Amino acid sequence: MTIAIHWFRRDLRLHDNPALLAAVHAGTTALIPLFILDDTILAAARTGAARTAFMLDSLRALDVALRAHGSRLIIRRGPTLEVLRALVDETRATLVTWNRDYTPFATRRDTAVADMLAARGVAMQQCKDAVLFERDEILSGSQKPYTVYTPYAKVWRARVAALGPVLDARPLPALAAPPADLADEGIPEPAALGITLTQQIPLGGEREGLARLESFARARITAYDEARNFPAVPGTSRLSAYLRFGCVAPLACLRAALAAADAATTPAARTGADTWIGELAWRDFYYQILVNFPHVLRGAFRPQYDAVQWEHHDEYFAAWQAGRTGYPIVDAAMRQLEREAWMHNRSRMIVASFLTKDLLIDWRRGELHFMRRLVDGDHASNNGGWQWAAGTGTDAQPFFRIFNPISQGEKFDPQGEYVRRYLPELQRVPAKYIHAPWTMPAAEQARCGVIIGRDYPAPIVDHATQRNRALALYRAARG
Ligand code: FAD
Repeated sequence: MTIAIHWFRRDLRLHDNPALLAAVHAGTTALIPLFILDDTILAAARTGAARTAFMLDSLRALDVALRAHGSRLIIRRGPTLEVLRALVDETRATLVTWNRDYTPFATRRDTAVADMLAARGVAMQQCKDAVLFERDEILSGSQKPYTVYTPYAKVWRARVAALGPVLDARPLPALAAPPADLADEGIPEPAALGITLTQQIPLGGEREGLARLESFARARITAYDEARNFPAVPGTSRLSAYLRFGCVAPLACLRAALAAADAATTPAARTGADTWIGELAWRDFYYQILVNFPHVLRGAFRPQYDAVQWEHHDEYFAAWQAGRTGYPIVDAAMRQLEREAWMHNRSRMIVASFLTKDLLIDWRRGELHFMRRLVDGDHASNNGGWQWAAGTGTDAQPFFRIFNPISQGEKFDPQGEYVRRYLPELQRVPAKYIHAPWTMPAAEQARCGVIIGRDYPAPIVDHATQRNRALALYRAARG
């Protein structure tokens, strides 16, 4: 008799779930789908309300999906190790399966769980799932991890081309139900966890995630290469939160994108799908960076940049958070984050560059703020993105390449559509001035009802001056 526990963590779905399948295929007579609400994670500094609420919603969807398969989700709350130990003893489980997670915290926790299970003689199976390729699957010729994306992605793409049957969807057989009398603490409402949600978040869960993937792959992926850079345009998949919680499998994303590339009728359409596949490679790349170089969670990937003498202007930081810097593209992006718990990738790059190179504030403060506010906040991708923008990270981007918030706005939001969407106070500013409204003559300000300094802030810093100061700070750090 095999009584198995499948421990759901960041794989909140039934499709393409290797550890769940492993539990089913073990000839299980009772399968316990378990999720643990662990206060260590719920109360962590980097945990945010939007993400927790999205997770709870996804858990509800998972429970519905399990019930349609004759099963149900068992929720237990408490320290992970204790909960699992108690459940194994209570149910006499003989097998525990889970999909791997890669943060230092998750790795330590999983090692402790594995030790506990081994001491009890309980079998376990851990599977790859959250990434397409793990840290030791894509290595350089000298068996070292790649630290630059382009050569990494070249090997990654060659490995994708060789995947073969791994890519085929494996249907989920019938699930053995958990014991009927097994206690379930239920999925709490966000308020019961002390969460006050001030941002609008999308519906969670596998069904919603798969619907988004299907519609993106059918209608928009072929235009992705062009459209992805314009934050006013819905040109990206908006799958990040679903990938973050495993509502959608990276493998399902890859499969859909490869099918779209195969079906493409023009080179441009094929490029769209290929470019999107490259984003999945970025995601894997930052995971292997996190696993191979865990110091990135504390400091610069290139330690020499830990010596940058950041400035500590709390009032600038508050203005950045509130979207009141006086630079419309930066402010619109920060207000998008506050409203939607998500921000377009172009905008993330712009605001991260602005915080570090215009306000001269330590990238780690921005990284933490993003983790608290993003529904897709992900340790690896967020850290990678911040270090990229700060110029302290892995890539070839030199620190002296600094985004100009005015020309970025003019190039990627030429009519100011994005700015106007999130900054209604600038609604009537002509496109000519929308990215530098302080240059409007007084008469024009009066005409469109936006007096700079009264209705919208004057720039809190001068970009050209701060650019030079940033260069000096970075150069000093490099000695
Ligand atoms: P799409 O453009 O449709 O891309 C598809 C998927 O590929 C995304 O859902 C995501 O999983 C992955 N992806 C895309 N771009 C990147 C990238 N540059 N790095 C890693 N993965 C990528 N992404 C997160 O998922 N969580 C974060 O916390 C996060 N923080 C970021 C912080 C900064 C400063 C920057 C510059 C980028 C960050 N990104 C983060 C990457 C990227 O901005 C988001 O993944 C993307 O905007 C999500 O929207 P989408 O799902 O529509 O992406």
